[in-house]
Amino acid sequence: MPEGDSVWRLSQRLQPLVGREITYSQFRVPQLATADLAGERIERVWPHGKHLFWLVGERVLHTHLRMDGIWRIHAEGTRWSAPAHTARIVVRVEGGVELVGHDLGIVELWPAREYDSRMGWLGPDLLADDWADGSIVVDLNDAPPEATHGQGSPENPRPDDAPREATHGEPSPEAPRTDDAHRKVAQREGSTETPRPDDERQAGGQPAAVAGGALGPRWRPSGRAEALRRLASDPDRTLGEALLDQRNLAGIGNEYCAEVCFLQGLHPASRIGAVDVEAVVDLAWKLMHANLTSPVRTFTGDHRRGHTTFVFGRAHRPCLRCGTAIEKSTLGGAESVADPRAGMERIIWWCPRCQRLAD
Ligand SMILES: [Zn+2]
Repeated sequence: MPEGDSVWRLSQRLQPLVGREITYSQFRVPQLATADLAGERIERVWPHGKHLFWLVGERVLHTHLRMDGIWRIHAEGTRWSAPAHTARIVVRVEGGVELVGHDLGIVELWPAREYDSRMGWLGPDLLADDWADGSIVVDLNDAPPEATHGQGSPENPRPDDAPREATHGEPSPEAPRTDDAHRKVAQREGSTETPRPDDERQAGGQPAAVAGGALGPRWRPSGRAEALRRLASDPDRTLGEALLDQRNLAGIGNEYCAEVCFLQGLHPASRIGAVDVEAVVDLAWKLMHANLTSPVRTFTGDHRRGHTTFVFGRAHRPCLRCGTAIEKSTLGGAESVADPRAGMERIIWWCPRCQRLAD
């Protein structure tokens, strides 16, 4: 399932294309049927949480993988390895590289000056370089092992296939995303300024100005501090929902949420005000960084298919620690174990013995 680490890796693979000209584009989404990027230069490519952005000329191409999306990257003329009818965008770049985005959940193209008004609702990115302010030290030595694979050659993106973990592991249903709703709620008046690399975020608040062109919202004092502030602002929410809410921090999806809760011994329906949020967030950071260089996303240290998670996708199977059957439910839905007032339905997995409900 694509989460922050998948999109970060995808972005890394696309970096060799920065500075190159797009020679051909075809959008296969109705609202962009006539859009054309040919002749434009790729100025930047960057992730923010589960979102991927390209600055192309003065426009931003915004894509989101959702559950099943994948980018195929190959030499022009290569036979596609995914069905053509699932393609949402085809881009060819000078140097003979073709990129095809299949089953993308979001494909948008808009003026770069609208970055803030469209995306300013996104919280700090766990993988951004402004996440830490230097006051925390997270030891990666005990992280899952076997960090080996590179990110492709410097000349061209590694051929074929986007984040590998997106196609591995167990399939799992995922509830409707709340991103669109968040956007409406959080939408602010658009800035008329052009993105600048040195725009800074105001401490403890929304961005002062557009930061998109630079990829990089700069949170003060740090993204981590801002995320903790946001998480603490609604102490009665469930831990699971708060972690999945991309307004609080960006990059965590159902898999990270489930595994982090397990490793912290906390039921995802725990009240966030009753848990050590710093420990939760720092563990998520650590796991996601460890997985950036792992060939397959793993939380157990085991890379074999079906062995990479403790609880995610393992309903009714025995807990790897205690043998109790893993349970599955939803947060926020009608049959939820959580407060029925809670927001959008989210699927959760947990071990009833290893994870306590903090309230
Ligand atoms: Zn257990």
